[in-house]
Formats: sequence, structure tokens, C-alpha cells
Amino acid sequence: MAIQVDKTHEDIAMIDCVFCKIAAGEIPTTIVAQNEFAVAFHDRSPQAPIHLLIIPREHIININDLTDLHNSIVVGMMQLVRQLAATYGNQVDKGFNLQINTGASAGQVVFHMHWHFLAGR
Ligand SMILES: [Zn+2]
Repeated sequence: MAIQVDKTHEDIAMIDCVFCKIAAGEIPTTIVAQNEFAVAFHDRSPQAPIHLLIIPREHIININDLTDLHNSIVVGMMQLVRQLAATYGNQVDKGFNLQINTGASAGQVVFHMHWHFLAGR
């Protein structure tokens, strides 16, 4: 007899989450930087000459879903941003834009937090 497993709404979201699969290596993607907490890779529909995404390994919906328990993850993501700036930042001063769409009303399409790193000017 199969064991009944209760799945929360969030568990179900994670099963189908494309970014969870990328973080777990289940969807092949060229990872440009990673650490214990986060992964960075090229956006499939670039909106700038350089358009990278930084995602936490853990399924977090967006900034509004963060708690103090996620502080290490946020710091880990920011460390990746600084690492990306050194390699992919604008030629003149390593500048870049960091865009974080939070919530459907603000244009968030994938509900696994992701930060857009835009550069190449
Ligand atoms: Zn996810």
C-alpha cells in the first residue's frame, strides 16, 4: 500500500519549478557562477548584451517571502552579484543594473526568486 504524502501548495510549486530544476542540475544550463547558496546563469531571452539570472538554490517565491532565516542566502546571492560584476560588468567601471521583479503585478513570471543582472554597455 502506497504511503499517502500530504503536499503543501509550496511543495507542488517546487516540483514544477524550472529554477529548482536548474539549481539541481536537472535542466542543463551553463552556470557562470555558483556558491553554496545560489547559482547564476544566462537568461534565455536576454534583454541586454549581458543578461544573467541569480537564483537561490532554495525555493523562495520572492523578496516578500524572505524571512530572517534567509539572511545567509541573500548574502550568498549578493556575493555572486559582486563576482559577476568583476567579470561581466560594463567595461568602463564594472557597472551593472540589478532588477528584481517581485509579484505578478510587477512582472514576475517565474515564482522562484531571481535577480536580473544586466550589463554590457
Ligand atoms: Zn523553485
